[in-house]
Amino acid sequence: MQRPLRIGMTGGIGSGKSTISQYFRELGVTVIDTDEVTRELTAKGQPALEEIRQVFGDKAIDEQGKLSREFLRNRIFTDDKQRRQLEAILHPRVYDYLLKNSDKQQEPYIIWVIPLLLETDASNRVDRVLVIDCPEHIQKQRAMARDKQTEAEIGRIMSRQVSRQARLQQADDVILNDCNQADLKAQVADLHRRYLALATGNNDIETSTS
Ligand code: ADP
Repeated sequence: MQRPLRIGMTGGIGSGKSTISQYFRELGVTVIDTDEVTRELTAKGQPALEEIRQVFGDKAIDEQGKLSREFLRNRIFTDDKQRRQLEAILHPRVYDYLLKNSDKQQEPYIIWVIPLLLETDASNRVDRVLVIDCPEHIQKQRAMARDKQTEAEIGRIMSRQVSRQARLQQADDVILNDCNQADLKAQVADLHRRYLALATGNNDIETSTS
């Protein structure tokens, strides 16, 4: 049985992933954002949240019973072992969710937005890597304007993500977001056509749950 071609979209903070996701959705493409999936999987009462509490302690949960993302971010920033522990709780669940919500789609292709696609082994799970590329000074300006954070804070986040060059080296497809939104939309439309063509020639991909 045929399954949709899986495109893994990645890019640094403020590179334009959400904006571009929206453009693909307007073209009728299913886009699943793994940040949103993680939020769902760690909502109040979810089993993953309890596992996180067992590993990281009560401080990992805030007064409203929700995941304290800031607490966890700080913990895993300074401790690789804890980062791996958190990944061991979340990644299998996220992947399971992606499969359950993707393979039944009768669509030529589907996009998974995975910000840390290249920092983890997630790139093995997709058929193509789509990198949203953006010159760093523009990326910083956009992220600062959106998040009301200082340049230093954005720089700190960027330093934890792979470099622009490393990302480009692993890309099958690139959208360069150094342009206005109309030109960005045109790039998305071009790539959409290309993915449709690729997916049509993709009849022999087997349904897989691996
Ligand atoms: P990401 O999801 O990768 O963090 P966003 O899509 O949220 O990035 O983009 C970051 C900010 O930059 C948002 O406020 C968005 O509206 C703005 N933005 C993205 N692309 C463009 C563009 N081509 N022109 C102008 N503003 C843009």
